[in-house]
Amino acid sequence: SIPLGYFGGIGAGSRQGILFKGSVFLDLMTQLKTVVMDKTGTLTKGVFKVQAVKPVGIDAGELARLTAALESKSTHPVATAVIEYARRNGGEKGYLTASVEGVEEIAGHGLKGKVEGKDMLAGNAKLLRKFNVSFDEVLTQIPYTIVMTAIDGKFAGYFTIADEVKPDAVKAVQRLKAEGIRTVMLSGDKGAVVEAVAKEVGVEEWHGDLLPEDKVKQVERLQAEQATNPKAKLAFVGDGVNDAPVVALADVGMAMGGLGSDATIETADVIIQNDEPSKIATAVEIGRATRRIVW
Ligand code: ADP
Ligand code: MG
Repeated sequence: SIPLGYFGGIGAGSRQGILFKGSVFLDLMTQLKTVVMDKTGTLTKGVFKVQAVKPVGIDAGELARLTAALESKSTHPVATAVIEYARRNGGEKGYLTASVEGVEEIAGHGLKGKVEGKDMLAGNAKLLRKFNVSFDEVLTQIPYTIVMTAIDGKFAGYFTIADEVKPDAVKAVQRLKAEGIRTVMLSGDKGAVVEAVAKEVGVEEWHGDLLPEDKVKQVERLQAEQATNPKAKLAFVGDGVNDAPVVALADVGMAMGGLGSDATIETADVIIQNDEPSKIATAVEIGRATRRIVW
């Protein structure tokens, strides 16, 4: 029979909006040596806003209109930012009615498709390199997320986009570190942005420019590094978008925000129903408190 303490722990979790899908995960929380977190939507709000647009050889409004037309086929937070910008800056007349065809979303890169008969790309440096479109490499050093646009194989400008760190992210990381846990942040966003966010929230280790499969490799590496101690466990916390494989791989997969994809919610062992990273630390503390009662 399951000791009463476990029910107490699961109940304490649910009162805090933390759903443990079984008492085994309360136990595993007490063995966590590493907590790996996604950046966008987990430690940051995941709400991007365009700060500036730099057109090259095209009118700014036209760049916004064409890029937003392509991005209207994506639900990625950076796509939403570009569309919102086009709407606010007079591009709304054109972008919704533009003919958009053959759009392909390339994970961790961006979009490719035809807008009003023009071959377009909208995405990051990796996307433009993939299609041999040259651009000023200095753009990769700016600590902003950037959506670059190419039209008919030529660089046509970019949008600088910023997200914000969640108000309780710093506290959350501090509390995990106080529990002796190694904190790591992984992201598909560009390295310069990932480094700036990592320093702001205080994680010990961070990696950017990762494709979904690179996140899997990083988690495998971190698990291998602590494998000498069979009791040392690893948790991955993501907001759902593209994170199902790493959530499945982690000893404890955690989904945050309740907005995650069904696949991630299904795969996750622990679900944090609101979007506060401090609940990650609360989950660890509930695990520890439960263990004190049970043992
Ligand atoms: P994260 O790990 O931050 O959640 P993703 O793997 O979702 O990142 O995306 C990584 C990067 O790929 C984004 O930061 C962005 O530069 C680019 N990207 C992805 N989708 C799009 C899109 N629809 N439009 C433009 N860029 C995109
Ligand atoms: Mg994400």
